[in-house]
Amino acid sequence: MNKRDYYEVLGVSKTASDAEIKSAFRKLAKKYHPDVSKEENAAEKFKECQEAYAVLSDPQKRKQYDQFGHSAFSGNGAGGAAGFDFSDFDFSDIFGDIFGGGFCFNTGRSSNRTHRGNDRVIRVELDFMEAVMGTTVPLDLDIYETCGDCDGMGGHGEKTCPNCHGSGYVARNQATIFGSFMTKTTCPTCHGRGVSFSRTCSTCKGQGKVKKHKTLEVKVPAGVDTGNQLRMGGKGEAGVNGGPNGDLYIEFIVKKHPLFVRDGNDIYVRVPISITEAILGAKVEVPTIYGNVVLTVPEGTQNNDKQRLKGKGVTDINSNKKGDMYVIFNVLMPTKLSKDQKRLFKELDDTNLKNHDDFKKFNRYL
Ligand SMILES: [Zn+2]
Ligand SMILES: [Zn+2]
Repeated sequence: MNKRDYYEVLGVSKTASDAEIKSAFRKLAKKYHPDVSKEENAAEKFKECQEAYAVLSDPQKRKQYDQFGHSAFSGNGAGGAAGFDFSDFDFSDIFGDIFGGGFCFNTGRSSNRTHRGNDRVIRVELDFMEAVMGTTVPLDLDIYETCGDCDGMGGHGEKTCPNCHGSGYVARNQATIFGSFMTKTTCPTCHGRGVSFSRTCSTCKGQGKVKKHKTLEVKVPAGVDTGNQLRMGGKGEAGVNGGPNGDLYIEFIVKKHPLFVRDGNDIYVRVPISITEAILGAKVEVPTIYGNVVLTVPEGTQNNDKQRLKGKGVTDINSNKKGDMYVIFNVLMPTKLSKDQKRLFKELDDTNLKNHDDFKKFNRYL
């Protein structure tokens, strides 16, 4: 993280006095305050100055910073890019000075604009085969829709808010140790919209949204995997003040299959074969996601030998190309042998079964 030195940010020396630091910050704040500045990246620079000043104007924090640098605050509060949390710091004396006391802090949000509704995420569990082949799932949802009776406004008979006279804000005198100054807050009567209604909408009780229970049939494309999301535009929460609805994201969780293991679009299956099938070769029926196929186990198949079945994997959700399937042969050694079977194995062993190259590497059975 490239974080500038606080002294450098304020353009003062390491031995600067409190008065010098305050004066430097005042100049910079005037230059970069986002409400008045036309400089590029003013907000960012303003924030940087604020942070530097919050630390260097506090004797204790300045001492910590001189000793440990930025790491003195890196574990503190906000963390990340800001590192140091200065949100509680009172800058009012400085700004009061700069803007001549008449300056208004804008502490409320400009909430009379329209806002897009929040997005929602819903998690849906699918069986392995449903995810691989595609399916349709019914989704029972509470959807917040814009109230049709008041068009999302929350009332009828719109009039200018008598409390804030349409501005959406109310000014308030706030006393601080530096003297009193004006703050601007969102009007509590109209919540910043600047208008109020002669009659609150009874359908949505003034909320502008109505909750509707719906069952959506969601078409799940073939090939989805755990973590994949399907976006359904406009099915999220209702917008505020007539803003557009948010989106609904359906996130899939795919259950494990007893036989198939998925890796991307490829599928792996471990197929057990007997020792005789491995030695002599055989035809075995093997399951794929598209139904059973008959595979030839070649003579002399070793444990963990693999066969690739091209195109028998999962359909790629974007390109429609199919992955492959890999059959891994799992040669099962017999665990319990009868006396006769043991005798037969011994007879077999006498016929020089130990001519495998790997034995030679270990100088065995030469
Ligand atoms: Zn108002
Ligand atoms: Zn309504």
